[in-house]
Amino acid sequence: MTIRQYLRLRSDRYATATFVFLLLVGASAAGAPRILAIRIAIAVVVVAVVAAAFWSLFEIRCPNCAKRMGTAGFWGAVGPVRDPSPRCPHCGISIDAKMPGKPPGLQS
Ligand SMILES: [Zn+2]
Repeated sequence: MTIRQYLRLRSDRYATATFVFLLLVGASAAGAPRILAIRIAIAVVVVAVVAAAFWSLFEIRCPNCAKRMGTAGFWGAVGPVRDPSPRCPHCGISIDAKMPGKPPGLQS
């Protein structure tokens, strides 16, 4: 597994979790009280969760040096394959390099 594949796996998980969350909110919105304040509160929570999921892509830690990869992690996770490939801003490892050791937070 390369670091890029690891980043894609992470972003897929965030995307799936966010999608399920939105489905649940959408499904429960029909039964929600028709009070404007509650609906605004729900909307704020939805926007916050989607923004947090998006932001978390910038917070993915480098599997080599364990520092946040920032935009390199974000573009590695969702961007097109570019040449040269993005590198960790801290240790300089290419995201197309093999994963150094076990992926943090992932089984198997
Ligand atoms: Zn690094």
